[in-house]
Amino acid sequence: MPELPEVETVMRGLQTRLEGRVITFAAVMRPDLRWPFPPNLQQRLTGARIAGFRRRGKYILMRLDGGDSVLWHLGMSGRMVLTPTRPNTQTAHEHLVLETDEGWRVGFVDPRRFGSVDLMPTEQEDAHRLLVNLGPEPLDAAFDVAMLSEALSGKKTPIKSALLDQSIVAGLGNIYVCEALFRARISPLRLAHTIPGARAKRLIPAIKATLTEAIAAGGSSLRDYVQPDGELGYFQHAWKVYGREGEACEQCPGAPICEGVSRITQSGRSTFYCPRVQR
Ligand SMILES: [Zn+2]
Repeated sequence: MPELPEVETVMRGLQTRLEGRVITFAAVMRPDLRWPFPPNLQQRLTGARIAGFRRRGKYILMRLDGGDSVLWHLGMSGRMVLTPTRPNTQTAHEHLVLETDEGWRVGFVDPRRFGSVDLMPTEQEDAHRLLVNLGPEPLDAAFDVAMLSEALSGKKTPIKSALLDQSIVAGLGNIYVCEALFRARISPLRLAHTIPGARAKRLIPAIKATLTEAIAAGGSSLRDYVQPDGELGYFQHAWKVYGREGEACEQCPGAPICEGVSRITQSGRSTFYCPRVQR
C-alpha cells in the first residue's frame, strides 16, 4: 500500500509530463472504483489544461485551469502508468485514461479497485470529505514538537497506532511508522501520552528524515520518477527494520550485539522493532 513517499514520487512523475498540458482525450472504462466516478468525468476532463499538482497525505490533487481539482487515491493496489500515446495500449485493470496534447498517456490501473478518483472545485480541496479530517503534513515546518506533543497528550493508545491515525499526522503508514520509531529509538508499544518531551524531540526529526530520505531514494533510483515500463513512483528502498525480523539492527552497539529485530502484531498489522534499542 503506497505511503507518503510513494505518493509523492507518483505525483512528481505526473508533474514531469502533465503539468501545463491540455487533456485531449479522457476515457472511463467502468462506472466506479471504490466509489462511483463523478458524473460526466470524461467530458469535464477533455479540453482542460493541467495547471499543477499538490499532494495532501496519500492523495494527489491535479488542478485544472477551469477551477476544478481531480483527486486521485491509489488505494491498496492502484498504479499510474505513463507512456507515449499509441493505439491499442490498454492494459488489464486500466479504468481511466488521459492523453495530452504533447503525446503522453497516463492510465490508472487498479486490480483491487480500492482506489478512487473525484472532482471538486480547487478552492474547496481541503473541505473534501476525504481530506477534511487529515492532520498536519509531516514535512511541513508547522508539524513540530509542540504540535505533536499536543496531539498525543492524554492518548492511551500505543504510539504506533497514534502515528497511523491520519488525523494526528497525514500520510504515514505501517512501514514508515516502524522506520521512524526505530530511528527515534522509541518502542512502538509505548503509550502515546508518554512521548511529549524528550521523546517527541527525537521523533519529529526521525519522521521527517525517514520520509525525506525515502523521497530522495525515489528521485535517485528513477529517471523523472518513472520506471522503465512507465509505471510511476514505486522504487527500491532498503528498510532499516521493516521486514527484517531476526536480523541485527544497525543501532545496537558492538557488544553485546543486537538480539535481532522482533516482529509483533499490533492492531492486526506487523510491527518490526529492536526491543534493545527502542524503549
Ligand atoms: Zn538492535
